[in-house]
Amino acid sequence: MPGNPLGLLRDEVVFEKATGTETAAILANVSGTSLCIVEVGGSFGRDLASRGEDAMTAFALDWLTRLYGSDVKKAVKRKAATNWNKEPYVLGASSAAVPGGQPSRRLLMQSLGGRVWFAGEAAHETLWGTVGGAWESGDRAAAAVLKQLAAADKPAREPPRSKRRRAPRTTVRRAPPPTRRQRPRTGRFGPNSVPYPTRN
Ligand SMILES: Cc1cc2nc3c(=O)[nH]c(=O)nc-3n(C[C@H](O)[C@H](O)[C@H](O)COP(=O)(O)OP(=O)(O)OC[C@H]3O[C@@H](n4cnc5c(N)ncnc54)[C@H](O)[C@@H]3O)c2cc1C
Repeated sequence: MPGNPLGLLRDEVVFEKATGTETAAILANVSGTSLCIVEVGGSFGRDLASRGEDAMTAFALDWLTRLYGSDVKKAVKRKAATNWNKEPYVLGASSAAVPGGQPSRRLLMQSLGGRVWFAGEAAHETLWGTVGGAWESGDRAAAAVLKQLAAADKPAREPPRSKRRRAPRTTVRRAPPPTRRQRPRTGRFGPNSVPYPTRN
């Protein structure tokens, strides 16, 4: 749409305040170009995509007309539609939570019994639906797995000091020091005397 007929900013996103599912969002002036993307989601998006490219572009033009007036149709110079649901290695475009369903992302970020971890665009609380979110979520999941493996490798830990069983106390009584008489004679010539080392 050259000339910015909708009067929107670069990369501005507009949602319709809709009451039904037949609605969309527009991402306008992508990266400062005249490209605008009308995005549909949920069951309506799936049904619309299955009806083919003509049905998709017709819906987009009608939706824009409803929001911005009939002149919009004339302003659209080129159009194209994608169908990621049909791509066998993709099976969809990006994940989105239904209104009120955002807390489910936190559930996805938890492991299943410490055995299975989920990673990807849906498992991020803020960067959902983006490559950055998918990447960070993968990083987090890998770190959690490594932590778990490292814990499994460690030998069983000793119980904390206070809980260790103590050996029963034994009292060691010292013998009183020998009296002068009891003391062994260690004089130079006595029976216990130690000869001086002789020099050769
Ligand atoms: C048209 C379009 C434009 C986009 N533009 C942007 C953009 O500008 N910026 C941005 O940040 N994000 C963009 N995104 C979103 C971004 O591409 C995704 O959020 C991101 O790729 C998700 O990464 P992921 O690893 O979670 O999932 P994916 O990249 O979808 O990876 C999932 C993988 O699992 C495989 N798989 C699926 N089912 C099975 C199965 N049963 N067995 C084995 N493998 C399976 C798939 O083949 C795929 O390789 C765009 C998406 C689309 C469709």
